[in-house]
Amino acid sequence: MTIKELIAIGEEKLNNAGIHDYANDARELLCLATGKDRTGLIMYINSEVANETAQRYYDLVAERAGRTPLQHITGEQEFMGYRFKVTKDVLVPRFDTELLVEEAAKRAILGAKILDLCTGSGIIGIALKKMCFGSEVTMTDVSDEALMIAEENAKANKAEVRIVKSDMFEALDPKEKFTLIVSNPPYIPAAEIEKLDPEVRDHDPRLALDGGEDGLDFYRVIASEAPKYLAPGGQVLLEIGYDLGESVPALLEAAGCKSIEVLKDMAGNDRVVAAVL
Ligand code: GLN
Repeated sequence: MTIKELIAIGEEKLNNAGIHDYANDARELLCLATGKDRTGLIMYINSEVANETAQRYYDLVAERAGRTPLQHITGEQEFMGYRFKVTKDVLVPRFDTELLVEEAAKRAILGAKILDLCTGSGIIGIALKKMCFGSEVTMTDVSDEALMIAEENAKANKAEVRIVKSDMFEALDPKEKFTLIVSNPPYIPAAEIEKLDPEVRDHDPRLALDGGEDGLDFYRVIASEAPKYLAPGGQVLLEIGYDLGESVPALLEAAGCKSIEVLKDMAGNDRVVAAVL
């Protein structure tokens, strides 16, 4: 079998399994099986592949066709140009979350003190530490497994951040004030989880998805607690579900926040809420 033939076989299997991004996923799995990168696949497109390599590729394709997320097979995901390790213990980083990070980096003052709540794999806090010169970044999560991944990701990306085990603000001292609080908390209404794609429903940690009955549990805690931990003029930036563009601003307004803005993602959906204390 040649690289070209293997790509065609993989594409067909993944397409039949209902995988939207089948062309990309077939190539990524072939990279993993052959040890080549995407350019390498093109350079050797008509080369024969050893039988055992082809077999390894078929196994990977079968795993993906069973709707295991690509990132759980490759063990990583790129975010903001950085590489992050991903396991079943953390939410797979989403491209949509780049909007939150870009916006937070724009708003971070020099020497910003940034808090990333529900950090998961650590993508938000780590990317901000890399992007915001002189910033101090604290990241919290309730899951020990997630904290270990965040720690590994911080080391691998040479980001000096503080990682604290904490259920939201619980383990933090309100005397310590932040200039920017960011979070992409779990926000799927509990009853909606069953309707999600199998990759998400069966593989992302439930803890990272479930936002309670109306999806707002974590935003309620943030709205009521954030003012105690923010420096005067400090800002809150939160990723939201596409249908939370009214409810989350209302919670922040009731908590005394000003200049509340809702920003849209590239698909035109409400994605980020920004507010100033
Ligand atoms: N902050 C992490 C991310 O954006 C994890 C979010 C979560 O677990 N809900 O990927």
